[in-house]
Amino acid sequence: MTGQLFSSAATSPRLLSASRRSSLSSEAQRDFEVDAHTHLQLFFDDGGPEVYFRDVRKFGKVLLLERGESHPRLTRLGIDALEATGEALFAATRGRKASIKALLLDQALISGVGNIYADEALFRAGVRPARRAGRVTRRECARIAAAIREVLERSIETGGSSIRDYVAPDGSDGGYQDERRVYARTGEPCLRCGSPIRRTTVAQRGTHFCPTCQK
Ligand SMILES: [Zn+2]
Repeated sequence: MTGQLFSSAATSPRLLSASRRSSLSSEAQRDFEVDAHTHLQLFFDDGGPEVYFRDVRKFGKVLLLERGESHPRLTRLGIDALEATGEALFAATRGRKASIKALLLDQALISGVGNIYADEALFRAGVRPARRAGRVTRRECARIAAAIREVLERSIETGGSSIRDYVAPDGSDGGYQDERRVYARTGEPCLRCGSPIRRTTVAQRGTHFCPTCQK
């Protein structure tokens, strides 16, 4: 989502509200001051930088758990996206009428795939996001699982996607937005075939795909 987790040593104009951002000169845009959207501040005994959690849209949750303690919100999470196999995805999608994208976003099935990465993985796998999940073949499920790993690993390497508000913990921008092939590229040519990328709504989320490369 659009929450921000970062240290007090971080500086980035993305940490400022849009109004402050536009009213300040570019040099003055760098100092973050704790504001009404900063819902958590962690202070450390060693005097190290504080950690802030800021979340304008209030979708985030913070749980304080004892070591070894569990919580229903965590136990109902599905398999980690980096460990999901094509076979597991194939089994989980049999008989399901929901779209393949809706199931990829279902954190109880696979945890860790957000909207950008679902679109990017489905593009790489050549599968349309709106396709009924039960109609995705075993081979396509293998391609989707591999593509999820690829896009997530590459996003981790490049530091995440700074499309709107995201910042890395040190306040720097991620680099993955430069590698997007479909997400938020509506009308731009597909990098593989040149067809204009289309935007639609699937699972109540803005969804981007190539009408030629994805079946
Ligand atoms: Zn294409």
